[in-house]
Order: sequence, then structure tokens, then C-alpha cells
Amino acid sequence: MKQIEANNPELKSWVHVAPDSDFPIQNIPFGVGMPPGKTARVCSIIGDKVIDLLEAWDLGLFEGISVDREVFANRHINDFMALGKEKCREVRQRISELLRVEDPFQAEIHSGRLLFPVSQCQMLMPVKVGDYTDFYSSEEHATNVGTMFRDPDNALLPNWKHIPVGYHGRASSIVVSGTPIHRPVGQTKPADSDNPVFGPCKLLDFELEMGFVVGKDTRLGQRISTAEAEDYIFGLVLFNDWSARDIQKWEYVPLGPFLAKSFASTISPWVVTLDALEPFRTDGPDQNPEVFPYLQYKGKKNFDLDLEVAIQTENGDEKIVCNSNFKYLYWNMAQQLAHHTVNGCNFKVGDMCASGTISGKEPESFGSMLEISWKGTRPVQMPDGTSRKFINDGDKVVLRGHGQKGSVRIGFGEAAGKIHPAKEWE
Ligand code: MN
Repeated sequence: MKQIEANNPELKSWVHVAPDSDFPIQNIPFGVGMPPGKTARVCSIIGDKVIDLLEAWDLGLFEGISVDREVFANRHINDFMALGKEKCREVRQRISELLRVEDPFQAEIHSGRLLFPVSQCQMLMPVKVGDYTDFYSSEEHATNVGTMFRDPDNALLPNWKHIPVGYHGRASSIVVSGTPIHRPVGQTKPADSDNPVFGPCKLLDFELEMGFVVGKDTRLGQRISTAEAEDYIFGLVLFNDWSARDIQKWEYVPLGPFLAKSFASTISPWVVTLDALEPFRTDGPDQNPEVFPYLQYKGKKNFDLDLEVAIQTENGDEKIVCNSNFKYLYWNMAQQLAHHTVNGCNFKVGDMCASGTISGKEPESFGSMLEISWKGTRPVQMPDGTSRKFINDGDKVVLRGHGQKGSVRIGFGEAAGKIHPAKEWE
């Protein structure tokens, strides 16, 4: 693919962007927000300013690109993604031109109508998610879980290196960063009891994941090859697959996770395009044994993106409990899509797939409290003097992620969620 012009590291904007911002002119992600006093609309962001793309349309700044106003006067970016990659690239390119110091459209004179401090904009779910699938694609995570719950000598199940294992999750409870999460209630079976008990989850956990958003439909029966897969991936978000470990343990046999996962998943508000992530392509881990031909791929399909998880206590203290990287994934997104569609299962614009917990080899890089505290045997010391095996009421869990190449940093912002006490459950 030829160099994407909007990714040019030399570009500078007339909008101030702090050096550690996730959103320089080279990013231009897409989301949905409500600027002060305005309805929900499709937006982008540069530095700490939300860009109102509906206003840009009304000002005629997308002239020459045939895009209907309704694409931006919209509560979701689905219609935008459905325009196809070429049109979306044209729009991203135009936004880049509007923001650069040489601004050929003189957008800067309209900055009062176009730009709003992100702190004053309520961000909404960017995507109307139709279907959601969660994979289990980190070898280190699968090995850790297998070691804890089954057998250290046979930690990976026999299928794991042949199949990108996944399950169909719940799309309706995917929520945008900042949405309060109530501790789920359900059945668990304590180790010292013969019978299950009913009540609030005691082992509430996060899972550090990345999600990708599908931007193109397939027909029932159609397969996506690993070579075509990236045409179907519009962009990525941070994804916290909240997990109730005690509920999960009791319910998951034989059909897999159910209520332990479906109470909520938190995503970051900005969908960072696959285009913007081009500079961060890297090789994935060697795959041995050799995978079936439909899972083989050419080129660099992993992405070097630093990821972290912080826990904030109610007094505002923060502890980083995990530093991981998206590049650790054994199965890449192209393989996940190829596998997902090999039986003819169709995709629709707005469908989402999450990676599975992304753990690295070192304990500092483990992507869930289950692994970090090793099933509760290694509590984490918090700055306020308390300790954590899992997540307490009042804790806020914050996922962050970015890639850095030279002076260009492309990031995702935050996927944050605060845990509130369980609702009445008797
Ligand atoms: Mn998960």
C-alpha cells in the first residue's frame, strides 16, 4: 500500500497538541460526541479538542467528497464506516488538510464552531455493535489460566495452537468509557460449600484487551481470507472485558462464559483507524505447529502498541498494575476474522471482535487481576495502604494504549470504568 498522506510524520497543525497527546494530526480517529449545547454527532479529536464533523459538513468543508449530511448527523459511526475504506480515507485526508498549518480550506477561521474542549463534550458509544465475539488469543494468558485452573504441564488445551479460540459475547452491554459499572450479582459455588450461593460477585476482574470494529458486510457463506481481512477492519478501540471470576468458575462448563462476562464491557470512545496504525506494524510470535492454510498469512499483522492498566482508588491515588503490548498476541486480527468466517458466518458493519486478555511473559505484563494476583495469592499493594486481589467497589479501572514511532504518538485515550456496589439483589 502506498504511504497514507494523513500519516506523514512531518505534518503540523494550527491546533496546539501536547507532545504526550494520543491525538496528534496523524491520528484523526472517529467517535460520537455531544459538544456543549449540541446533539450527538460524529466527531474526531486533535490534542484535547473535539472536532465537530457535522459542523464541518455544514460549513462546506467536505465539499468535493460525496458524503450525505446524515452520515455525520448520526449517533453512531456505522453509516460512516459503511461508506467504505476509500471514502473514509478521503474524509480522514480532508480533516488532515483542514487541520494542517498550511490549511488550504481556511478552517482555522471557523475554529470557534468546529473545536470544543474534550472536557466539555460528552462522548457516547461510537459504534452500534451488532454482534460481538471475544477471542482468547494471548498464549501467555491462556497458559497462565491453564496453569492455575488445570495442569501446569498441560496448561494449553490441545486445540489452542490450531484454533483461534473464541466465544460469542453480548453486544448490548458494551458501554463507552465513563459509564458506571455495578458489581454483578449471580450464582457462585464457594470451595468450602457443597451448594451454590447467590449474591454479589466477590472476585471482580478486568481483562486488558483490544477490540476491532468491522466496517464492511459479508454475505452468509462468504469467507474472509487473511489477505483480505484488513479491508474489513475499520479500526480499533481499547476493550475492558469485565469478568466475574467466581460466577465464571461455576457457570462456564460446558458452554463457556455467560453471565460472568455479559454484565458489561467498557471501550474507549475513539475508534482509531487501521490506517493510522500502519506505522506500528510488526511481526507476531512464531506459530508452531504450522497452522492450516486458511490461517496462514503474509506480512506484518501484529501491531506494536503499548498498553497499560491503572487502578484508581476513591482518594484519587493511582497504581499501574499492568504494562503489556498488543504485539504479544499469538493469533492476529486477520487470522481471527479468517477463522470466524471459515464456516460461512457473516459479518455486518459495526460488529466487534475483542482480542482476549493480552498478557506478556513477565508478571508485570499480566492483563488481569486473576493473573496479577495469581488467583488471589499475591495481593497488590496500593498507594493508599490497602491491597487488592481483585477489584473493590469504588475502584476505577483505566485502560490506556498508544504506539510511538519517532516523534509521532498515536493513542486511544482511555477506557475507564468505576465499580459501584451491587444493586439490590435479595
Ligand atoms: Mn475476554
